[in-house]
Amino acid sequence: KSGFVAIIGRPNVGKSTLLNRIIGEKLSIISNKPQTTRNNIKAIYNGDNCQIVFLDTPGIHKPKHKLGEQMVNSAHSVLSEVDIVLFITTPQEDIHPSDRHIIEKLRNAKVPVFLIINKVDSVKKEEIAKTIECYMKEFNFREVIPISALKGNNMNTMLEVLKSNL
Ligand code: GDP
Ligand code: MG
Repeated sequence: KSGFVAIIGRPNVGKSTLLNRIIGEKLSIISNKPQTTRNNIKAIYNGDNCQIVFLDTPGIHKPKHKLGEQMVNSAHSVLSEVDIVLFITTPQEDIHPSDRHIIEKLRNAKVPVFLIINKVDSVKKEEIAKTIECYMKEFNFREVIPISALKGNNMNTMLEVLKSNL
């Protein structure tokens, strides 16, 4: 099995930590090539009979200037080129305003979108449940996977879920 997975999330939710964690398991970084979509390739996971290419989506945030607008277009093309979208957030009382903006963009996605709740090591179970409740109300995520990229919790579960959806 093989496929492309987009990683989307506002700054500081732990995207880089997550990619590094997967690299720690079995992965190689690809150097950036400007002017191509490959620009977005962050990492390739090679498992047993399975290859997953992870891409980031630098421009999914609100554009602040012209260059920003260009990046938003590139984010849209990533959304149409991948097999799965991972939307990363952290435990929240209510939808984070920046997340709301990204979720609006995700409504155009024609592929499964998974909700990854990172940093679950830092909160109580009830706070995770609350996060799932308010985010699922906002968007019909295919599945929810709570993880700790920092501690490595639930990494295998996440990879297995990805594999079974490719
Ligand atoms: P990015 O901006 O989305 O790439 O986020 P980073 O990967 O740079 O992480 C931002 C901050 O969150 C860093 O200080 C990380 O150490 C921290 N962080 C990332 N993942 C976790 C996690 O699972 N648990 C905790 N407690 N902190 C985390
Ligand atoms: Mg980062």
